[in-house]
Amino acid sequence: MTNVVVLIKHVPDYTAEWKLSDDDYTLDRGAVDGIIDEINERAVEQALQITEANGGEVTIMSAGPEKTADAIRKALSMGADKAIHIQDDAIHGSDAVQTAYLLATALGTVDGVELVIAGNESSDGRAGAVPAMIAEYLDLPHVTHLRKLEVSGDSLTGERETDDGIYTVEASLPAIVSVNEKINEPRFPSFKGIMAAKKKVPTVLTVAELGIEDGVVGGGNSGSSVTGVTPKPPRSAGERITDEGDGGVKVVEYLAGQKII
Ligand SMILES: Cc1cc2nc3c(=O)[nH]c(=O)nc-3n(C[C@H](O)[C@H](O)[C@H](O)COP(=O)(O)OP(=O)(O)OC[C@H]3O[C@@H](n4cnc5c(N)ncnc54)[C@H](O)[C@@H]3O)c2cc1C
Repeated sequence: MTNVVVLIKHVPDYTAEWKLSDDDYTLDRGAVDGIIDEINERAVEQALQITEANGGEVTIMSAGPEKTADAIRKALSMGADKAIHIQDDAIHGSDAVQTAYLLATALGTVDGVELVIAGNESSDGRAGAVPAMIAEYLDLPHVTHLRKLEVSGDSLTGERETDDGIYTVEASLPAIVSVNEKINEPRFPSFKGIMAAKKKVPTVLTVAELGIEDGVVGGGNSGSSVTGVTPKPPRSAGERITDEGDGGVKVVEYLAGQKII
């Protein structure tokens, strides 16, 4: 039996144009439709495969505004058993440390958690730090960037992929891991799954219900904040070089002019 919690984030649809609010540069989550972050769909898939092989339950956990319920429903439709939604206006503007503290505290309310699966980085904030911070708060083993993950007995094994190569890793349970986009292809929710999800009502928790004092999370107490934003300049059209027998020379001259060679 392996009880797994999957941390999912509700993020703005990648295909829509995102907007940061003009006053505090937080993401204007109300302005665009949201979806479950793609990497988190894969995390849910991995949790389902692990519990299908070993037994156990999959619990979804997410902190975010009301619309986060859509992402949670998608995960439940895929087959997760239950969900916890931390929803409170007081969370707005939290940085990665506060988010990790919030999630670590909420994980403490779930009985018998053996494995926590997160994505390696979210597609909006991209801190790539929350799972490691939770590991630190809860004093759990942590392995990151897994492209393969298996659980056997009271330990996990996996393949960790970085720019340097592939590492074979193992850790004792309970543990928290993060997975990369190569871990699996997530399943589509079946009609049966979608209908079953309607009956799985998420537990909604506020910051106070988690026993966290007023002002601990949220922008008013965040250690870091975004103080300015400059959009990336649009890509220039580039320079076309026509080969009239001297193409090689022209390319070299261009590269030298750009100080690339
Ligand atoms: C434009 C922008 C810039 C930001 N810059 C910073 C910054 O420089 N420093 C900083 O501290 N914060 C920053 N933040 C805030 C940060 O994104 C949030 O605190 C966020 O909740 C956690 O960071 P992340 O999504 O980047 O996490 P990551 O560490 O990138 O997320 C990895 C995984 O953690 C889990 N996870 C993350 N958030 C949640 C959640 N709310 N609920 C459930 N699971 C979750 C998911 O499994 C996710 O795949 C920024 C936010 C924005 C929108």
